[in-house]
Amino acid sequence: MDYPQIITQIATQVNPLFGQGKVADYIPELGKVPPEQFGFCLHLNDGQVFAHGHSGVKFSIQSISKVFTLSLAFQLMGEDLWKRVGVEPSGTAFNSLMQLEYEKGIPRNPLINAGALVVTDILVSAFQDPKAEILRYLRLLTGNDCIQFNASVAQSERNSGYRNYALGYFLKSFGNLHNDVEQVLDVYFHQCAVEMTCVELAAAMQLFSHHGVEPHSGQRLLTMSQTKRLNAVMQTCGFYDEAGEFTFAVGLPGKSGVGGGIAALLPGQYSLAVWSPELNKKGNSVLGMKALELFTTLTGRSVF
Ligand code: GLN
Repeated sequence: MDYPQIITQIATQVNPLFGQGKVADYIPELGKVPPEQFGFCLHLNDGQVFAHGHSGVKFSIQSISKVFTLSLAFQLMGEDLWKRVGVEPSGTAFNSLMQLEYEKGIPRNPLINAGALVVTDILVSAFQDPKAEILRYLRLLTGNDCIQFNASVAQSERNSGYRNYALGYFLKSFGNLHNDVEQVLDVYFHQCAVEMTCVELAAAMQLFSHHGVEPHSGQRLLTMSQTKRLNAVMQTCGFYDEAGEFTFAVGLPGKSGVGGGIAALLPGQYSLAVWSPELNKKGNSVLGMKALELFTTLTGRSVF
């Protein structure tokens, strides 16, 4: 397979889509990112890496962080985790409050904001310094000790995070947030404000394409069964109310973020990351979605 040629072809084909989406500005700091950028990185399980365009530029991983905190919480709690958060697609926006009332404080899944706050609460209970622990974990997965939070983005999230505050206090009222709401939100805003490049993100996703083994160290972090479950949750819930569309068009487990990044993988074969800041109405990268659809179509390599 001529991956460099395929990736170049994809970049050419998505280029006319610039201008169709809009950079997220409900978090003001994210609104400052220059829109016309496109990065792509494919990381094969045999270690080969194919990077293109702005694949070395740091961006805010935002909700993609939810997959990493979830995998950490799963290691700590095992199956008991699912007593506090469900595994059904929500069909609603990432920051929706509606279902939480009906479902008595048990979020539909861990990849919407409500569910991610419960996951972060678990980390706050488990670790003395949860922010440092998240960085330690991401540094291990990327093999890069420079992974950091962007303090201005975290502050900007705090200043504009009304819905996340509402979700936090709502969860607390149902007894599904055990720690101080402010403390959980502080960690949540920081995890969303982690910066990575496409190359780093694709490397971090190798954990899931390697069935739970971290390939740099050869360390098994998740069991085969746990990895299967996490990949299943990404497949069904990774794109909020566009999860069906992503599965239909792309056919990979993955996770998007409002920074414009999308991370995805094919178990046993590869992981990849794509980044382009302009988003569609559902909060997913316009060029990113199209690039991944083209990738699985041109290579014929998807789950389906
Ligand atoms: N930090 C963002 C929020 O909580 C993350 C949302 C996202 O990437 N979908 O609103």
